Amino acid sequence: MDFLEEELKKKLKFNLQEQEIIKKLGIKHEVFLPLLFSLKFGGNWSYKTKKDSVRLMAIKDKVTRYDPEEKLGHTLETIYLFSNPVILKEEGRVLRLEKCSEKQEREIVKRPYKVVIDGEDIIKAVLDLSSLKIRVKHIQGPLTLEGSTAYGVSHEMDHLNESEDEERKCLWDFSYEISDS
Ligand SMILES: [Zn+2]
Repeated sequence: MDFLEEELKKKLKFNLQEQEIIKKLGIKHEVFLPLLFSLKFGGNWSYKTKKDSVRLMAIKDKVTRYDPEEKLGHTLETIYLFSNPVILKEEGRVLRLEKCSEKQEREIVKRPYKVVIDGEDIIKAVLDLSSLKIRVKHIQGPLTLEGSTAYGVSHEMDHLNESEDEERKCLWDFSYEISDS
């Protein structure tokens, strides 16, 4: 069997498993899409279904566990998939330069440092790099997310609410200066 055939069989098997897990979770196929995108391409994704306009959002959390004595570690990836997410509480304001795939250059945005968020359905997926398992389950909200995951939530909620058209400063608004410190 050549490499290509092996590869195709793997992909087919993965796709079949995906159908199985979607069935087991009792969700519609399109609900799973942002999670799949986050698994395949990384990052956070949001999407609104055309038919019954369900708002969907996948937020990825990455934590590296490192043992400085053994000099070994691994990065844990957790993805939270929300359907019809609602932010219940925001705390703090953080100025950030963010890049969105829809824009050419990075822009200055204000994000909350902490968010409390709930959704009609919340599915948590944990990628286990040592056993090559993706463990998925329904979880009960609300969740408190902070730092990069809170920024991600705020960014994707802007897309879902289409409320991002305020005038924003981008990289070209900066000016260079020689630092004297
Ligand atoms: Zn974006």
